[in-house]
Amino acid sequence: PYDVLIVGGGPAAASAAIYAARKGIRTGIVAERFGGQVLDTVGIENFISVPYTEGPKLVASLEQHVKEYDVDLITEQTAAKLTTGDYVQIALESGATLESRAVILATGARWREMNVPGEQEYRGKGVAYCPHCDGPLFKGKRVAVIGGGNSGIEAAIDLAGIVEHVTVLEFADTLRADEVLQRKARSMRNIDIIKSAQTTEVRGDGNKVVGLTYRDRETEELKQVDVAGIFVQIGLVPNTEWLKDSELNLTRFGEIEIDARGATNIPGVFAAGDVTTVPFKQIIVAMGAGSTASLAAFDHLIRTPDP
Ligand code: FAD
Repeated sequence: PYDVLIVGGGPAAASAAIYAARKGIRTGIVAERFGGQVLDTVGIENFISVPYTEGPKLVASLEQHVKEYDVDLITEQTAAKLTTGDYVQIALESGATLESRAVILATGARWREMNVPGEQEYRGKGVAYCPHCDGPLFKGKRVAVIGGGNSGIEAAIDLAGIVEHVTVLEFADTLRADEVLQRKARSMRNIDIIKSAQTTEVRGDGNKVVGLTYRDRETEELKQVDVAGIFVQIGLVPNTEWLKDSELNLTRFGEIEIDARGATNIPGVFAAGDVTTVPFKQIIVAMGAGSTASLAAFDHLIRTPDP
């Protein structure tokens, strides 16, 4: 068995693995795909101390850093079940089972997509999911935000300070965002909010986004908005489907509940990064959380007898 087994291969997992291995304990990583969401990212400008990098380049450095240490790196394997006994057991889809004294869950999350024509084609070419990451790329331009929940209205307020104009499109006939956010958004002269609007298509010129089409759900009319960027803010889905039958406490959104040390409700099971209740989902935040969970796991190990 391992002392610390990390499930996931994103920045949270890499950071957790390095912190564990530096304690000289048996450390393993099991991941579907090393790199996580960072592999899908083009430009990264907010990884502090590195003014600009690109996803695949950062992933290569992460992998190199992990490989400096004695870490068992198992990739292309998907965790399917978590059970507890003397050890924490992680059953893989392949049929094998890994055992560890402590486990750190870092399976990340994925953005919910609109599933409309053009979305995939123009992903990273105007279609964006992270305002903190990509907002500055649209300085002085017109953008749309899809979704009128808290994240959508927060994104609109954030973007309105950078871009020329923001149009928010909400599917329902009311906004779900907190009143205080709605009030703030309504007070900004460069934000328009359109309700009962179902986005049906991302329009592009072959290279980049030029606008979107939506269906007015009251009149059934198809209308167009010309924008250079479309921020999709209709939810972040944590990768916890495989944990639904475990004893682990998840929120109603499926996020793993953790405390300030990254501990879950199961002794010896820790979690870090986008898969958890951490309020902000960013690379640097995930790395910090990975190191926190790893140090907490080490703390747990030195207080718990080896079975
Ligand atoms: P993830 O990166 O999601 O990694 C999860 C890992 O778990 C993956 O390796 C996956 O293969 C693995 N996994 C999932 N399920 C299983 C399973 N059942 N078994 C085994 N392995 C599993 N953040 C920034 O700070 N700056 C940016 O510029 C930025 N741009 C972004 C652009 C895009 C397009 C996207 C999608 C995200 C961006 N983010 C950015 C957010 C950032 O990528 C995430 O916050 C960060 O990657 C979260 O790290 P994580 O380790 O928690 O999870």
